[in-house]
Amino acid sequence: MQNPKNLHSLDVKAFAKAQMHVEGETPLVEFARLAEDCTGDVPGHVAWSAQGALDPDQSGKDAAWLHLEAKTTVPLTCQRCLHPVPVDLLIEQNFRFVPDEATALAEDDESEEDLLVLEDSFDLLALIEDELLMSLPLVPMHQGCLSEQVPTSQEEEAAMSEAKPNPFAVLASLKIRKH
Ligand SMILES: [Zn+2]
Repeated sequence: MQNPKNLHSLDVKAFAKAQMHVEGETPLVEFARLAEDCTGDVPGHVAWSAQGALDPDQSGKDAAWLHLEAKTTVPLTCQRCLHPVPVDLLIEQNFRFVPDEATALAEDDESEEDLLVLEDSFDLLALIEDELLMSLPLVPMHQGCLSEQVPTSQEEEAAMSEAKPNPFAVLASLKIRKH
């Protein structure tokens, strides 16, 4: 099997059987769903690689496997200061291909690897994008923004009711600001 020409339509069985390896750098903008979650320009790339293998599953039957790695940095919006924050994403995942949806459901719980249903044509770039989307942080934030303490309403009330500031509280807030 030659190098796959179309990464959107891969023959997984042949890929696994030949233990093929493909890698590349794809511009972030080509991952339209991922780029939509980014802020401003998305000039970066996604560096990725995929390794096929034909190995036994738990029952000893030969199965097609795919080891996927992908790395990129996406510009997201910090949910605290609303400025852009670069977030590193890293994927390292094993996939095993199963004949049908029923097998995938039956074996999913006992499998460490992710299960995918084997189809004649498989979209490798879409899988990479799915995995990157799933690894996005729910609440992107700068490290500094994250460590800034949010006063709870109880603490605020306590502060209001106290005539003299508690020296320990002052000390604590000084410590926090030093970072
Ligand atoms: Zn921030």
